[in-house]
Amino acid sequence: MARIVQKFGGTSVADLDRIRNVAERVKREVDAGNQVATVVSAMAGTTNQLAAWCQEIGPLVDAREQDAVVASGEQITAGLLAMMLQTMGVNARSWLGWQIPLRTDGTHSKARIETIETDDMIAHLGKGQVAIVAGFQGIGPNGRITTLGRGGSDTSAVALAAALDADRCDIYTDVEGVYTTDPRIVSGATKIDRITYEEMLEMASQGAKVLQTRSVAMAMQHHVRLQVLSSFVDQPGTLVVDEDEIVEQKIVSGIAYSPDEAKITLLGVPDRPGVAASIFGPLADAAVNVDMIVQNISHEDQSTDMTFTVGKADLDRAMSVLDGLKDELGHDGVQAETNVTKVSVVGVGMRSQPGVAKTMFETLADKGINIEVISTSEIKVSVLIGGDYTELAVRALHTAYGLDAEPSD
Ligand code: ASP
Ligand code: MG
Repeated sequence: MARIVQKFGGTSVADLDRIRNVAERVKREVDAGNQVATVVSAMAGTTNQLAAWCQEIGPLVDAREQDAVVASGEQITAGLLAMMLQTMGVNARSWLGWQIPLRTDGTHSKARIETIETDDMIAHLGKGQVAIVAGFQGIGPNGRITTLGRGGSDTSAVALAAALDADRCDIYTDVEGVYTTDPRIVSGATKIDRITYEEMLEMASQGAKVLQTRSVAMAMQHHVRLQVLSSFVDQPGTLVVDEDEIVEQKIVSGIAYSPDEAKITLLGVPDRPGVAASIFGPLADAAVNVDMIVQNISHEDQSTDMTFTVGKADLDRAMSVLDGLKDELGHDGVQAETNVTKVSVVGVGMRSQPGVAKTMFETLADKGINIEVISTSEIKVSVLIGGDYTELAVRALHTAYGLDAEPSD
């Protein structure tokens, strides 16, 4: 007997037929003699609709009430799935965040999980009852409903798997696993059988949408055995594992891209010690996440241009912070560009293999694509390019690193 946590995303529970399909999958695990806790998202589109209603009331609505509203989508799915299972003769009940309880901090709309008390749930699981858990939600220190940020059900599932010491955490979604790149852009993209936690973390944070980044970090930290698989086809998905579980490691495992970046250039910044701190300190204080940074060479007048990227959603905030620094910094001006994409190649193999960045730069040069900013980590090289070149760049890189599927004959 194993203890399994499963998570079904919004498209997997989009209507009653799909909820029935999910119930059949749950039942299969139960029939195999396993203890099952199933985390559900809201039905596809529901959270967007709920959030839109809140926004329509006003941009500065009470975050606690907004959480009360947007968390409700998961409550509906949890109840429906529990009922569906009962009609199939499976003992099941729904669990809301506060009923578990799954405790979070008080940061409404992007709360962090603090503790999950599992005694009660384990007792129910032990009696053969399936736990249907509303994902995305918890209870804050003041007893109010909190939510974990968009896509947060992935994190609910991984955290629950860790707390329940589950043997597996299966994330069911509408694709068959993690792909070498976005199959909508590159038809030759292939499903990855095994990927390391570190690679998955980079892929998710660099724009691959298949898992919420935070859930991967949590899985890595707690060694949760994570599998991403389709709720519509019966195929093994992608296993997220430790590096030593991967026999033949490719140099580059995948290519991610994110159009959610904006580029800011500060012109004519004085080139003296402390300047970077005086720019990035106030940005950090305003909760603006800065990603890539380049400082250009000094002009003759001892001034320089500083280019960096921030999330598009943070651009307005960043620009107003920079506006406020004008007198202190004495720079000549600020330029913002939103039509940019960050393209990243990711692979743990590049730790031991030189030349990965060179291949990337040559491939992009061959296609006449200008690189605007570069950043690297041990297992990733990212470049910022003009947004119009996204597809061309991703396709060319996918081929250059030998990731294209073998043509079938
Ligand atoms: N329903 C929430 C969202 O759409 C959480 C989730 O699906 O993971 O963001
Ligand atoms: Mg999701």
